[in-house]
Amino acid sequence: MSTTLIKGGTVITATETMDADVLIDGEKVVALAARGSQKWKGDKEIDAKDKYVLPGGIDVHTHMELPFGGTFASDNFETGTRAAAFGGTTTIIDFAVQAKGGSAMEGYEAWRAKADGNVAIDYGLHMITGDINEQTLKEMDALMGEGVTSFKLFMAYPGVFYSTDGEILRAMQKAAEIGATICMHAENGIAIDVYVEQALKRGETDPIHHALVRKSLLEGEAAHRAIVLAELTGARLYIVHMSAKEALEEVKAARDRGLPIFAETCPQYLYFGLEEMGNGFEGAKYVCSPPMRDRAAGHQEALWKGLATNDLQVVSTDHCPFCFDEHPELGIQKKLGLGDFSKIPNGMPGVEPRFEVTYQGAVNQRGFSVNRFVEIVATTPAKLFGLFPKKGTIAPGTDADIVIFDPKKKHTISVKNQHMRVDYSAYEGLEVTGKVETVLSRGRVIVDGSDYLGKPGDGVFLKRGVSGYGG
Ligand SMILES: [Zn+2]
Repeated sequence: MSTTLIKGGTVITATETMDADVLIDGEKVVALAARGSQKWKGDKEIDAKDKYVLPGGIDVHTHMELPFGGTFASDNFETGTRAAAFGGTTTIIDFAVQAKGGSAMEGYEAWRAKADGNVAIDYGLHMITGDINEQTLKEMDALMGEGVTSFKLFMAYPGVFYSTDGEILRAMQKAAEIGATICMHAENGIAIDVYVEQALKRGETDPIHHALVRKSLLEGEAAHRAIVLAELTGARLYIVHMSAKEALEEVKAARDRGLPIFAETCPQYLYFGLEEMGNGFEGAKYVCSPPMRDRAAGHQEALWKGLATNDLQVVSTDHCPFCFDEHPELGIQKKLGLGDFSKIPNGMPGVEPRFEVTYQGAVNQRGFSVNRFVEIVATTPAKLFGLFPKKGTIAPGTDADIVIFDPKKKHTISVKNQHMRVDYSAYEGLEVTGKVETVLSRGRVIVDGSDYLGKPGDGVFLKRGVSGYGG
């Protein structure tokens, strides 16, 4: 076992800010001491003077190589997790998929096969249960045993992942019985599809119409319905990628009533609006579901406020990139939807910039403490999804997943310096202050400035426990 000493930095967790040196032995943090107060020697020593020493980011919502709309998300587990590492994320939770008519267990095994041996960082899996039936409900028990302790359902995408209210009710009953968490894509897909058909009939084919037909009230309505079903069954519910203020109001009201309801938003909803959707087909770069919302209607500010007050608990990415121009191996992706917005693959790249753009918006622009930043990008995700305290904080006994962050360094987000396998950055030209400099995954330095020191397969599958939030 070799030791690493990180000295001279400021260690910041969700609850502490300490001028402290950190001693790592092998894969674990073994001790912290007041800066300069110890005589430790590390086999390797990292100078963190004037830097923050932060827990590695945890992105609980990614879709590496997800099949969607006749193509695949352009990042695979190798490229996507390496890009995540460069961006300060040391754990992802991706979504295995049970197809209609297929077995959930087989979906889980297929995703393990795609990821194992390829991932740069540790990963866990949620299960998209796309076909709720007796067999699937039984398989949920077996999956819990594998450390897949959260199951995702869709109220959108009829004919693909969509579940009826009855199916949702049955899955929630089962989840409540076994202690699992239900993750919900809350949009009323049946109503949205009517609006899609009507818009296309009127000749409204540009990407902006993707945002206009997916009305925020239909996200609010779906969130309400999901919460009612969760309340009836006693299930713990986590609403993914929230973008509408109406949905946030529902979560707020439910939490005030004491229900175990949680929600995440994503950086794209905190940064972008209809303006980005409106520039002809360029808007396809911002097509994801739920869509960007009208800034003037106050959605974006409501989300920031939700993060400030803990009505929203997590920032994840829903990373699901598709190339704008034809890619030599992946073929035509976003442009499948030229002339028909409903055929644009839904999803955006985000796993790499999440840490830095969230820091910029939350800490630099809105006065969040760095502790709160750590809480929403690492600690709460770990707690909610059964990874804490192994992941999500820095303390003796935790995995040494650590980001050394320079809070003063200014830089510009651009496709030119990103590592994600996609041909654009949604944040092109955005200047931010604060940069991920060095990244350790279980004690090993895998990113050092612009150098990648890891290799595919460094990461391992994480058997997750149940949510630390009870309920
Ligand atoms: Zn997603």
